[in-house]
Amino acid sequence: MITGRCLCGEARYRSPGPTLFAIVCHCRDCQRASGSGGVPVMGVSRGPFASEGPIKQVRTRGGSGHPAVRHICAQCGSLLFGTPESAPDLVTIYAGSLDDPTLFVPGEAIFVGQRPPWARLAADLVEHVALPAQTG
Ligand SMILES: [Zn+2]
Ligand SMILES: [Zn+2]
Repeated sequence: MITGRCLCGEARYRSPGPTLFAIVCHCRDCQRASGSGGVPVMGVSRGPFASEGPIKQVRTRGGSGHPAVRHICAQCGSLLFGTPESAPDLVTIYAGSLDDPTLFVPGEAIFVGQRPPWARLAADLVEHVALPAQTG
């Protein structure tokens, strides 16, 4: 079981898995939403995904150009997960909110064309200037 929570602990989520993909997104939206150089996200199936607590939805146009919804704790503001409207079967968990952060094993980095030089990760990831061709 994949579980996670926000900083204050009021908002939680869980997914039976499996992890469908694990990437670091360096788009400007993720930078602004997180206050960092990118956001580590892992995809899981939306059907069995469950969340509880005071979760607020913030809707913006995502890096794909389609509307993206970020779910944050209404109380403490932690980013928890996203539900991209371009992929209705998918939930993208923000890896920093995982109860066990080692469950996140990134393989690729996307939107590295928008990544600031200081945000390159030590991990050796396959890099895409924007989106990989097969998912764009
Ligand atoms: Zn919270
Ligand atoms: Zn992004």
